[in-house]
Amino acid sequence: MSRHRIVIIGSGFAGLRAARQLAGQDADITLLARTSHHLFQPLLYQVATGILSEGDIAPTTREILKRHRNITVLQALVEDIDVEAREVRWRNHNESHTTGYDTLIVAAGAGQSYFGNPHFAVFAPGMKTIDDALELRARIFGAFEAAEIAEDEAEVERLLTFVVVGAGPTGVEMAGQIRELASKTLKGEFRRIDPTRARVVLVDGADRPLPVFGERLGDKTRRELDRLGVEIRMNALVTDLDASTVTLRFADGSTEVIESTCKVWAAGVQACELGRVLAERTGVEIDRAGRVVVGPDLTVPGHPEIFVLGDMMSVPGVPGVAQGAIQSASFAASIIKDRLAGRDCSDRAFSYRDKGSMATIARFKAVVSMGRFRLTGLPAWIAWCFLHLLYIVGFKSQIGTLVHWFFSFISGVRSQRTTTNQQMVGRLALERLGAHSSGRLVAGEE
Ligand SMILES: Cc1cc2nc3c(=O)[nH]c(=O)nc-3n(C[C@H](O)[C@H](O)[C@H](O)COP(=O)(O)OP(=O)(O)OC[C@H]3O[C@@H](n4cnc5c(N)ncnc54)[C@H](O)[C@@H]3O)c2cc1C
Repeated sequence: MSRHRIVIIGSGFAGLRAARQLAGQDADITLLARTSHHLFQPLLYQVATGILSEGDIAPTTREILKRHRNITVLQALVEDIDVEAREVRWRNHNESHTTGYDTLIVAAGAGQSYFGNPHFAVFAPGMKTIDDALELRARIFGAFEAAEIAEDEAEVERLLTFVVVGAGPTGVEMAGQIRELASKTLKGEFRRIDPTRARVVLVDGADRPLPVFGERLGDKTRRELDRLGVEIRMNALVTDLDASTVTLRFADGSTEVIESTCKVWAAGVQACELGRVLAERTGVEIDRAGRVVVGPDLTVPGHPEIFVLGDMMSVPGVPGVAQGAIQSASFAASIIKDRLAGRDCSDRAFSYRDKGSMATIARFKAVVSMGRFRLTGLPAWIAWCFLHLLYIVGFKSQIGTLVHWFFSFISGVRSQRTTTNQQMVGRLALERLGAHSSGRLVAGEE
């Protein structure tokens, strides 16, 4: 009899955790992921603002799993799941493939949501992938370069105005970092412009930054951002956005148009398209964010062989954070192990343990919320550094991150400022060429 086949889609927090926990089981595991790396998303903003290199936060999945002989890693963009034939359909560039499964783990994460305005993405990249972070790095540093050349004062103003949409942890971190970059790192490097004049505007529909951290930490964050020089526009929705402007509408009905070339979209999330595929193939419900409404054991109702984990699952009380992904993967792996061992696990239900939230605002400043416990300032920042370092996968990445942090935090110097035109326009160029262009380009056919 052939061995049990487990297919895992995604090499993020959930997919990687599931793979590691199932390593060594009497099963053949195939991990299919769009990228060849495991990405530590919480530090993407540091890649975008020149503190860390992409290698620091995105070690290669193959290398991480190389000791586990029952795991095969394939770089694969999954496009379809045939739940009747129990096959996953995927492609690498333009080549199509099929992989059969007995147990399937779908952990393909989430992308950015532009709340029904996908065209905003042309002018305001999100921050979900290494490509996004490098594009933003090129756009941010590129705006200062263009401002140094611009003749027209209004154009200089526009180039030196950065708008960050979304005041959750990512938006707050980005806004704080762009201000620090402008006022410390770039100070004295230009001859015609004064980079310290750069405006950073943080926009959100909520009434305070970091709404999930509660009133006290939200207000504290607002004061810290004020001190840094970040302009805050709360109770404001983006109603329009193009190459040179962002239009806001406030809760009181008033509007504001901000002239800005470089925009960052750090608002809403939308689960991976595979959620919709599963809904079509199995009839499972998906919520407004495209997440799959799984049963108490995190499987698709009627399909005990299909688990949906992490950012793709909709489970009441479980937020879309790293802990949700890690804990759901550990739970699913334990069920799969029980099943392989012939133990009954039909009555088991997932329960989430909230370990709290944290966000940095700037160097030496962070906020931490754990149950009723609150921490701010330097102690919170030290806790933030320690925990993030602990969760980065791989000793090499941890050391690389520590070294880069040491230089940036002590001296304000950023060692990862290299940008290329390819980073800036690659995404848009590929989108114009179409989804299946990469194979043809590599073959010299276009
Ligand atoms: C900028 C940012 C900052 C964050 N900060 C924090 C934080 O400070 N603390 C915190 O707890 N959480 C944070 N989060 C949230 C956290 O990163 C996510 O909740 C977590 O990554 C979810 O894990 P996941 O495994 O479900 O998905 P992901 O980690 O997103 O992994 C998804 C995987 O699926 C792959 N994939 C996607 N589509 C396909 C496909 N069609 N075919 C094959 N593979 C596919 C991807 O390549 C990836 O490997 C942050 C997220 C972002 C974007």
